[in-house]
Amino acid sequence: MNPFAYVRAERVEDAVAAGGADVRFLAGGTNLVDLMKNRVEQPAAIVDITRLPLARIVETQDGGLSIGALVTNADCANDARVRTRYPLLSRALLSGASPQLRNMATTGGNLLQRTRCGYFMDPAFPACNKRSPGSGCGALDGHNRMHAILGASPQCIATHPSDMAVALAALEAVVVVRSPRGERRIPMEEFHRLPGDRPERDTTLAPGELIVAVELPSAGFAERSAYLKVRDRASYAFALVSAAVALDVHDGTIREARVALGGVAHKPWRARETERLLTGARLDADVFARAAKVCVAGAQPRRENAFKIELAPRTVERALQLASRSA
Ligand code: SF4
Repeated sequence: MNPFAYVRAERVEDAVAAGGADVRFLAGGTNLVDLMKNRVEQPAAIVDITRLPLARIVETQDGGLSIGALVTNADCANDARVRTRYPLLSRALLSGASPQLRNMATTGGNLLQRTRCGYFMDPAFPACNKRSPGSGCGALDGHNRMHAILGASPQCIATHPSDMAVALAALEAVVVVRSPRGERRIPMEEFHRLPGDRPERDTTLAPGELIVAVELPSAGFAERSAYLKVRDRASYAFALVSAAVALDVHDGTIREARVALGGVAHKPWRARETERLLTGARLDADVFARAAKVCVAGAQPRRENAFKIELAPRTVERALQLASRSA
């Protein structure tokens, strides 16, 4: 680990004032500290934000919930309001990491998790555009079983590792951030970015911006939603493919459908064509199968991950079946 300056902030204003391009905010530290230990991250300074008053879940005026950035993944998943009104989010959180990690990891930090691409995580590999812009991509012709099939670029084919973010994408949550310039609200769809020719940037956060909360709209799809994660072992593993599905159903007809995929792209991937085919259709197994098939339209597999082209539609179809029965 490289030497760095350490600052503990007692107020949000102080944390924001201390932020900057070469500064990292420390909350649970479950990803950042690992990355600093192996020198993937080498910030000049750390701002410890663990004492900021951002660990509460409160009601919003429009009937939703605001989850403070320092609410732990365990507390969020087990909050009675989240469990009853946003079960999709609770299930996604409980499918991630381990109980010990969920007790430490925070809402803001979960959003800022970095890819677990092995070439990124280990500086012994010289070629990684995300870690070292312009150095190449070791995964393109290397081991790429876990990597993206959608939205990738010749510069990077990494996937985003968060389960929580996939559920938040389906729920159309809003990320609230603060900086010396004031407050900004970023829809989940726009928070994470595709790699393009700047794979070193995971999000649209500006340098120094601090996540203070994630807001959930009032529509929680509590009656019909499902999070299904397919992975190599039953626990403590990242998704090969995951699907967050939320349906608004009236008299057996789907009024609105939300489908987001994890494990297939650099960001949570909204399957818009699948949603379009579902909207206005009856709750029906054949409809689910047809709609699920198009969730990977335009996919570009690499040598080791073509299996995701079959696995993703199967995961979505199964998640739709589960959601349709969850009422
Ligand atoms: Fe680096 Fe992205 Fe290539 Fe992985 S996929 S080696 S993170 S550039």
